[in-house]
Amino acid sequence: MDKTYNPQEVEPRIYKWWEEQGYFKPRLTTADGAPNERPPFVISMPPPNVTGSLHLGHALTATMEDIMIRYHRMTGDPTLWVPGSDHAGIATQIVVERELRDEGTDRYALGRERFVERVWDWKRRYGSRISEQNRRLGVSCDWDRERFTLDAGLSAAVREVFVRLHEEGLIYRDDRIINWCPRCASALSDLEVEHEDRPGKLYHVAYPLTDGSGQITVATTRPETILGDTAIAVHPDDPRYKDLVGRDVVLPAVGRHIPIVADDAVEQEFGTGAVKVTPAHDPTDFEIGARHHLPRIQVIGFDARMTAEAGPYAGLNRYEARERLLADLDASGALTGAEDYTIPIGTCERCGTVIEPLISKQWFVHMPPLAAPAIAAVREGRTTIIPERTIGVSRANCGGATASPHGTVPTDTSPWTAPTPRPAPPAAVPISHRTPTCSTPGSRRSCGLLVRWAGRSRPTTCAASTLLR
Ligand SMILES: [Zn+2]
Repeated sequence: MDKTYNPQEVEPRIYKWWEEQGYFKPRLTTADGAPNERPPFVISMPPPNVTGSLHLGHALTATMEDIMIRYHRMTGDPTLWVPGSDHAGIATQIVVERELRDEGTDRYALGRERFVERVWDWKRRYGSRISEQNRRLGVSCDWDRERFTLDAGLSAAVREVFVRLHEEGLIYRDDRIINWCPRCASALSDLEVEHEDRPGKLYHVAYPLTDGSGQITVATTRPETILGDTAIAVHPDDPRYKDLVGRDVVLPAVGRHIPIVADDAVEQEFGTGAVKVTPAHDPTDFEIGARHHLPRIQVIGFDARMTAEAGPYAGLNRYEARERLLADLDASGALTGAEDYTIPIGTCERCGTVIEPLISKQWFVHMPPLAAPAIAAVREGRTTIIPERTIGVSRANCGGATASPHGTVPTDTSPWTAPTPRPAPPAAVPISHRTPTCSTPGSRRSCGLLVRWAGRSRPTTCAASTLLR
């Protein structure tokens, strides 16, 4: 026997033997061959990303699950632990795109079909890494049942549920402002945006009233978006501007006439108390625009270049357009001042490019009717959810009561009728723009307190009045 224990030699050998003997499979019969009547115990492994490698968090979760699984297996319960991995769409795309870049090509040159084929290629080459690591951890999964989230079966299940919910009007599409990375050509969740403060300028720009009787000055850190302005907003209680609400101003450099509107979202203390409203390029402005039925004029495209809507500035990148426009505003006398200002910038977590808030069609799920049965279960202290509504297909096919270890689910004997498609469901709050909570600049930590909006696109202070940015 060796003097020192060598896990590399011992553990894989023993694990292989466990696996070959079928010890990780559920025991469906008892020792004397009778059906195992004990209640089953099953865990679906939360699938790790196929692009990653396991870390301590996975090891911790896997250990907890393995303890429960082995305990139930030893009591004689039919016990199953289903392993799997997650296709991690965007992460996988990035890895494969990096390979393509090394080969001097990209996904656009390849085309969708060949690109998808390359992704599957990659999965075939590296996809087993995660399961090998899990085996080294000693987890007692039934590997014959390993699943991948893009397997035909799981994909069909996702499609089925998606289509069903869509037909019932519970899934719908709508325009929302998203975080867009012009380099990755991808929408980012709030979690994928890094925040930093950069020195910049706050510019004061005068918009003359159409009747020539005066002007209103706004402050902006992003003058290039002036081209997409569709209103000026002031606070309804602001005495300075009370008489101006409802009147029109001339958009400098463009000449378009836009209205002055009153909106509670405007902070009277910010800048001059009057803000420009660019619904297509700022989340707060998007909401102001929706409240006042303002048009959305997209002047910056998905490639971060000015669109045809930007008139003489079309084709310039957003920074060139800013310089050119500032020079023009200065020449015409519309630029009345500029002060140093710290600008909160959002950058792409993957490539560092400054993100651009843009309007894009997004999918939403109307949650209240789906959440109600779960909320009721929690309130009534139940561990099972009694469906208040049975989805079409299953109700049509099933006339009998359903037995479950937790009791009998009442049978719905009413004849099944096709769901009537709902008209436009109430606007949902998109995931990326929920009530903001405090986040410490430059880090992912957060004190979790609600943040008030400063009337611009970013929250400034949390409820504890900590100055954030
Ligand atoms: Zn990026």
